Amino acid sequence: MTVPTITLNDKTTIPQLGFGVWQVAPEETQAAVAAAFEVGYRHIDTAQMYQNEEGVGAAIAASDIPRDELYITSKLNNSFHRPDDAKHAFDETLKKLGLEQIDLFLIHWPLPTKYDGDFVSTWKTLASFVEDGRAASVGVSNFQPAHLQRIIDETGVVPAVNQVEVHPFFDNSEVRAANASHGVHTEAWSPLAQGNAVKDPVIGEIATRLDRTPAQVALRWHIERGDIIFPKSVTPARIKENFEIFDFTLTAADVAAISALDQGAAGRIGPNPDTFDWIP
Ligand code: NAD
Repeated sequence: MTVPTITLNDKTTIPQLGFGVWQVAPEETQAAVAAAFEVGYRHIDTAQMYQNEEGVGAAIAASDIPRDELYITSKLNNSFHRPDDAKHAFDETLKKLGLEQIDLFLIHWPLPTKYDGDFVSTWKTLASFVEDGRAASVGVSNFQPAHLQRIIDETGVVPAVNQVEVHPFFDNSEVRAANASHGVHTEAWSPLAQGNAVKDPVIGEIATRLDRTPAQVALRWHIERGDIIFPKSVTPARIKENFEIFDFTLTAADVAAISALDQGAAGRIGPNPDTFDWIP
């Protein structure tokens, strides 16, 4: 099964499907990532906040996959937005992952009510990691359209991606449209709505008709819409199931039926980025 690659606005390429490790316990992470590598995943999405970068690094070190076939993303913790802290935290990320260069590094949350509303100096600091060659790409996560506009206006540096909550119950169309208008690719987090998408009857009916699982149908919906996804599971059979989504397609009518499950703001699972202010 070949995972399509997407070319980002900085000319780098990213596998459209990856493996997410939020809520994977540190001691389970190496095995989960190794299971994903075994199935064929080459793109891993971690974060400083997940406290499992070392496990990802251990799985990379134990594998014999050439570095240029892997795509590794991590994210700056909310406690490290000040430039000096961000630099130090980024050094730590490279060390924990055992990498000289990361493929993609993101500001995890904009925290517009913290740090005197300054996420611009944080963004400039991330851009310096591309300049010094230690990040191939940098981007943002959970940025609302106004946040995105502001960093672009004030720095001229356009993020490669904006990783935001998107799933059948919350299609986040305003943010996806803003991303597209700037040439920023959308990464859809919680693509299975943290498991809730597999219980939906509309998705279930399509899955039965296509002889696929509900998870595969929900993930395929994202793929058809062009977003980058990295579903999470620690169960080897599900890790494999979630990878097997490139040998079937959905009709436009099926895509539309799943898109119609959108509940607007009520469908959001995670916090609203305009007000989220959690600093661990
Ligand atoms: P997800 O939508 O990927 O759902 C994961 C859950 O769905 C699993 O815990 C399991 O309960 C269930 N599941 C997975 N595969 C299944 C299958 N085949 N059949 C039935 N159930 C299945 O949720 P997620 O982990 O929140 O999101 C994926 C990734 O997105 C994370 O691991 C992380 O990398 C990223 N993420 C980023 C942010 C952010 O703020 N940037 C926030 C949340 C998640």
